[in-house]
Amino acid sequence: MTTIFERDNGAENEYLGECEVSYKLDNKYCRDKKLKLPGVSEGELCRHYTQLADNTYGVNNGFYPLGSCTMKYNPKINEKVAALEGFSDIHPLQPKSTTSGAAEAINLLSKYLCEILGMDSVTLQPAAGAHGEFLGLLLMKAYHADRNDAKRNKIIVPDSAHGTNPASAVMTGFEIVNIPSAKDGMTDIDKLKEAVGEDTAGLMLTNPNTLGLFDKNILKITDIVHKAGGLTYCDGANQNAIMGVARPGDMGFDIVHVNLHKTFSTPHGGGGPGSGPVGCKSFLSKYLPEGECSIGRVKAFYGNFLVAVKALCYITSLGCDGLLSASQIAVLNANYVMSKLSGLFETVGDGYCMHEFVITLEKLKSETGINALSFAKALLDEGIHPPTMYFPLIVPEALMIEPTETESKKRLDDAIEIFKDLYNRAKAGEDMHNAPKRTYVSRVNEVAAARNPIVKA
Ligand SMILES: *Cc1c(COP(=O)(O)O)cnc(C)c1O
Repeated sequence: MTTIFERDNGAENEYLGECEVSYKLDNKYCRDKKLKLPGVSEGELCRHYTQLADNTYGVNNGFYPLGSCTMKYNPKINEKVAALEGFSDIHPLQPKSTTSGAAEAINLLSKYLCEILGMDSVTLQPAAGAHGEFLGLLLMKAYHADRNDAKRNKIIVPDSAHGTNPASAVMTGFEIVNIPSAKDGMTDIDKLKEAVGEDTAGLMLTNPNTLGLFDKNILKITDIVHKAGGLTYCDGANQNAIMGVARPGDMGFDIVHVNLHKTFSTPHGGGGPGSGPVGCKSFLSKYLPEGECSIGRVKAFYGNFLVAVKALCYITSLGCDGLLSASQIAVLNANYVMSKLSGLFETVGDGYCMHEFVITLEKLKSETGINALSFAKALLDEGIHPPTMYFPLIVPEALMIEPTETESKKRLDDAIEIFKDLYNRAKAGEDMHNAPKRTYVSRVNEVAAARNPIVKA
């Protein structure tokens, strides 16, 4: 495919008219050459973006069961509301009297998120889940420093945590104490008791965890950490498993982040924009970016405001009952697919999951040489986006499947048949090592692609 510059057909490219506001920048910040922009007509521009879209697989193309990422359908009404001028054409610095609607949207969403999460305050600043983790850990740091307890420099992270958890802990200057999961996929209580101490700053836990399991010992876990003087952080990126059923605040968590771009209706996967609001209990509120002992800003103004508007529209259009039923259907769909696949594939856990589940292809690999990677690539030829591969790390040859609540039974049944068919074809000796064959880009050498990316092909 060509780049937009190669499509240059000599068309006029004065895209931007004269600006109504003028501001004289210091010369050292000014361009000395004209900005190079492609000269493309509107028609060529449309073709360019349509081709890009055609070469990409998204939730609008088909089933996209990418575990943990919640690639679900996002109702168009939310886009429509976010595009209203009063939301999309405003500036945070314009007179407050002209933006009271936007301010109300922020306040309402914060209030609803507090209610959904069981927290006392919320900040909308973080632009992503990992950004929220970063902010949440800074709250922990500020809390301990305020109590002259700065020796608490260790964060306990179970091995079933999302990869961003240990990364955020390192970014905020903490040391990580990794604890293994017990055989049943839950946090190992004895190992947790051994791990906590006077140097424990806190615990980061994903619940439901990345095996798709709800940790039934959660109250015991948060209590152990609190008794040791630590704080508890919930990675609540995937609220679609528990909305209206259980709240992180009631599980004993002090801090939580939630990914609006997963559960609360913003398309994602292309690099943004996202939003990872953080909620906390009242004793930590003063350290939030807006609080009187603020840890400082992590983003300009109010975060990615239009993502917040979509979330507000999603929450208000579904209402309490709708949110509850979204979670119930997410869990039902995952259990349905898991039970239908469990005859052929080995699943992890005791037979029930939350919104996602993990299968291991270890046996298939040893019997046929087809590993999780080849199986996932072969799914692409059947029009299904592969599930999350090789994650969580504690399960060999893992595929992590999240059907989401927005898929119909018919779509799930079709997908189940495709999974079974591929399994049987692998067993019958079909070579899938070079799959996919029918996609725009065939199997890539992933190491070379990472080291020497050719972004135009
Ligand atoms: C997606 C996800 C994150 C990270 O969110 P980003 O917005 O990608 O930074 C963290 N934890 C869990 C459990 C997730 O699913």
